[in-house]
Amino acid sequence: MVASIDPGEKGIQELTRLATTYALAHGLLYLPVNGVQPPAPTSAIHAPLALFPTSFPRSKFLLAQKLQPLYNVLYARVATDERFLDKIMGSVDGVGKVDRFTGQLWGCWKQLRDEGIQQGWHLGLFRSDYLLHNPDCGKEVSLKQVEFNTISSSFGTLSYHAAALHRYLAKSTSYFGAFPGFNLGDLPQNNAPAGLARGLAEAHAAYGSVNAQILFVVQPNERNVFDQRYLEYELLERHSLHVIRQTFNELAESVEVDPSSRVMRIKHPVTNQAIEISVVYFRAGYTPTDYPTQTQFTTRLLLERSRAIKCPTIQLQLAGGKKVQQVLTKPGVLESFLLDRTRWDGPDFTEADVALLRDSWMGMWGLDEDGDGGVEKARSLAEKLVLKPQREGGGNNVYKSSIPRFLDTLPLAEREAWIAMELIETPKGIDNHLVRAGSGSQGAVKAETISELGIFGWALFGPGAKEIKHEEAGWLVRTKGTDSDEGGIATGFSVLDSLLLV
Ligand code: ADP
Ligand code: MG
Ligand code: MG
Repeated sequence: MVASIDPGEKGIQELTRLATTYALAHGLLYLPVNGVQPPAPTSAIHAPLALFPTSFPRSKFLLAQKLQPLYNVLYARVATDERFLDKIMGSVDGVGKVDRFTGQLWGCWKQLRDEGIQQGWHLGLFRSDYLLHNPDCGKEVSLKQVEFNTISSSFGTLSYHAAALHRYLAKSTSYFGAFPGFNLGDLPQNNAPAGLARGLAEAHAAYGSVNAQILFVVQPNERNVFDQRYLEYELLERHSLHVIRQTFNELAESVEVDPSSRVMRIKHPVTNQAIEISVVYFRAGYTPTDYPTQTQFTTRLLLERSRAIKCPTIQLQLAGGKKVQQVLTKPGVLESFLLDRTRWDGPDFTEADVALLRDSWMGMWGLDEDGDGGVEKARSLAEKLVLKPQREGGGNNVYKSSIPRFLDTLPLAEREAWIAMELIETPKGIDNHLVRAGSGSQGAVKAETISELGIFGWALFGPGAKEIKHEEAGWLVRTKGTDSDEGGIATGFSVLDSLLLV
């Protein structure tokens, strides 16, 4: 949104009323903070939202879409390169030595390899996240990647609803004439739920058993259920596919993997019928808190042992590690994944593709690099950096002035688990009105904002990523106040938004 939009106090009030009622009517929702309401939810709150779409350069949006197929194939290849992942993420040579969670995941994968992997296909539902980079508030604006998510990439549904919300507000009110230069045709289409459901349906087809169902592995007390449920509705309506939702704890009781055929079956909670599972879609399992005891890891391992297609496999989850993102920036690494035709069959890439990907990256290095050099560099450049561990889901990073103190206490052995990344310098002076529900709601709050664009994609691929089907699959915009370093809707920092292409 450009700074000059001002529909006045009454205009904001009316837009807020229209926005929250639209959200409540169309499933732009969260369960309230008091969590799941037994025996079944009886109420919901609207998801945090922005009243206006955020202006975004059309060329950068198109670039982000153009990058997605490159990233789809790149991460498929990374996930099938065992030697690379062992070296970077493993417990013998890599991050798994010092980061317990990474080590546990890698240990599971190692065990599976020793036993013999039963299913060659991998499914990834990805989201590549970007910010606009406008160094020193100069003329130059570029698109820079924040991170690449390979597990539990969420908000496909809610961002689809957010785009529809802004379209509705524009159609019904014309934003009271207070949005200069606004044109309905400049709101891009967003088909994220259809795209993500197509990825799941393709994996189901690759599994090849028509009566099988798809398993969503979910967190207990998940508040973001409406984002997930809509994918179920898409699967049922468009693909006639059924979904079973279970937590790791429920699965510990309900799942069986046949020791010889490795077919996974779940006892249906109502009918007691044993239902074959074609695809396991993890919306849980990406953070250590999803595994409070060894039992949840044992259950994960059991699912992994089956011949159901996993979204993602453990190796694809590991490929999404921040450490991998950093190592890809080292000289020659990206080239080895995209240009070395002795290593890869399938789509050919050019130097220009490599340059395009590289251009989307900020500088990164490992804190363990170069003796004390990696840490000393981070100390001296702290104000322009963020430090990241191997975690997902927000709230784990260390920013700017907190860095030196953090480095003082970081044990030498743990340096390997952290990467340093240059901060993306986002454009300034962009206002919006942010609306949050719940007890802390103050109606719409005007704020100077930063917006993070996420592009969804899916990839279904076999060993060596030789056979690969993939697509770009819609987008997400999360907007936060400039006073917050972190993003994240689930963590309460960001709101759902959409784009006005300029
Ligand atoms: P997570 O996997 O926990 O989401 P991210 O790498 O996305 O981790 O970091 C969380 C948030 O921190 C991002 O959404 C973004 O707001 C902020 N952030 C991360 N990296 C950068 C960066 N290089 N420059 C500016 N902000 C960043
Ligand atoms: Mg992430
Ligand atoms: Mg993120």
